Amino acid sequence: MIKVVKDFDYPPAILLKKGCLEHIKKATEEKNGRIYSSNNYGHADVLKQLKDEIYHGKCSYCESKSEHVAALQVEHFRPKKELKKEKQGDESHNGYYWLGYEWSNLLLGCPKCNGKGGKSTRFPISGKRVYDGSPFDSSGEIDSFDRTRLIATNSPLIDEKPLLLNPEYDEPGDHLEFDNLGQIKGITERGDATIKICKLNRDALYMERQKVLDPFVNEIKRLIYAFEIKKIDIEGLRYLVEGVFDAIVMRTKPEEEYSLWGRYIFKKFEYCVLSRINSVYHEPIREAFKLYCNRLPVEEKNFLEFQTS
Ligand SMILES: [Zn+2]
Repeated sequence: MIKVVKDFDYPPAILLKKGCLEHIKKATEEKNGRIYSSNNYGHADVLKQLKDEIYHGKCSYCESKSEHVAALQVEHFRPKKELKKEKQGDESHNGYYWLGYEWSNLLLGCPKCNGKGGKSTRFPISGKRVYDGSPFDSSGEIDSFDRTRLIATNSPLIDEKPLLLNPEYDEPGDHLEFDNLGQIKGITERGDATIKICKLNRDALYMERQKVLDPFVNEIKRLIYAFEIKKIDIEGLRYLVEGVFDAIVMRTKPEEEYSLWGRYIFKKFEYCVLSRINSVYHEPIREAFKLYCNRLPVEEKNFLEFQTS
């Protein structure tokens, strides 16, 4: 999960059409989030904006590009239907029935993160639970529609303090880190909760992250072998290993799958990559990496430092 930029003030026009406002009105009156139509919240314009402009074709939670096997879906961060109870004795909650078409509540989920075994209708919080809401004033008239009452970063929703991280306003790198094999770890309560809710260490996903790191390690080992059999000299090794550094930097870009992991590999190069190389070669490769980092443009350096610290 990486932080993305979404302008909450400019929702796709379809979400504000009269028909949609009428749905919201009905859902609010009946306290029923089941009446929303996926033809609207999952409309091609909404999907296109989320997929192409905000999430780069990746799941909001696990950063997988799963389109070749299963379509990414527009999902409700706060479930529109009845919430699943986290433990016995939890108070029942009708779902956030007033947020079915709210732009700040629409993310992009893969079936694994968002489906039955994953997030589904779970929404644990550590703050004050909001049970009711409406974008209309007490008259209930459509003309009184006021979106500011729906936006996730406004009170009262923000005061719920959701445990699940939201890539549209949280900085996931402050809550999540990895081990040197790609196992994701929480460094805060919210990080832990997010991993648990979306099962971010499921086997297949963990293996995909390993597939990001392994080629870097293998390529360095191949270069070391070339040095040992005297196909290249030490200068050649220092020079050619920069191709690996370039490849790691590529994996930090927001368009890439698992870019939070890519950023972590770059930031913790010693721990993730060097630790898997014959220690005899640590010094020249560490030096080459340092020189490489010093030559990076300032913006890139700042970006990588900021995103992964
Ligand atoms: Zn996912």
